[in-house]
Amino acid sequence: MTEMHGTSTRSTEKVFKVLIVGDPSVGKTSFVQRYVYNTFNRHYKGTVGVDFALKVLHWADSMTVKLQLWDIAGQEKFSWMTRVYYKDSDGYLILFDLSNKNTLTNAIKWKTDVDSLCTRSDGRKLPCILVANKCDIPDSEKQVTREELEEISNQYQFSGWMEASAKEGTMVNESLRSLTTLMLLEQRNYRETSPNITLVASGTPTRKCC
Ligand code: GDP
Ligand code: MG
Repeated sequence: MTEMHGTSTRSTEKVFKVLIVGDPSVGKTSFVQRYVYNTFNRHYKGTVGVDFALKVLHWADSMTVKLQLWDIAGQEKFSWMTRVYYKDSDGYLILFDLSNKNTLTNAIKWKTDVDSLCTRSDGRKLPCILVANKCDIPDSEKQVTREELEEISNQYQFSGWMEASAKEGTMVNESLRSLTTLMLLEQRNYRETSPNITLVASGTPTRKCC
């Protein structure tokens, strides 16, 4: 995290590096596009290497948060390269596709992978939210239940989980807002009111979207 203090306004600016990881086609690019540009396009070409986006949040009167979003290609063949990009990250989202249970199994691998490279010297892990994307699909196509998600989130020490839809824009802002709150808390620079904090810090299911 980088912190800068404006000279004239006494405002604080925080910069966080956020990784967006998960298997190919779970919706990482769509999620970032929705979050940053509020658009959805059915045909993003597969990300090669790393996509990069910036979102500026006016967090409080005197605080601006800049999120550097690193959308990392899910392909294993890129992993030798993407590992370099894990460096100095402040938090991450792991996405999986609710219609494909295999992507949840791999989300657990992603968690282990990132934690093994990003855990701090005192053993603390980075804040990480498990995002069940594509929750707009019919229930009959969903391969994962909320109970399973809750169990996996606890067992593998995710900060929490959320159901989201990049397609419809559901819980996209909320996911990154909650992660930001956790990152601010983690940095011990945030003591004021934080309405969302119990939302994910407890690891319990959050707002339902569909
Ligand atoms: P990435 O490989 O993880 O970056 O995934 P993409 O963002 O390229 O999305 C892969 C496919 O899933 C595309 O056809 C998207 O249109 C589709 N997709 C992404 N997000 C959603 C979503 O929330 N709901 C639905 N139904 N489809 C989605
Ligand atoms: Mg992509």
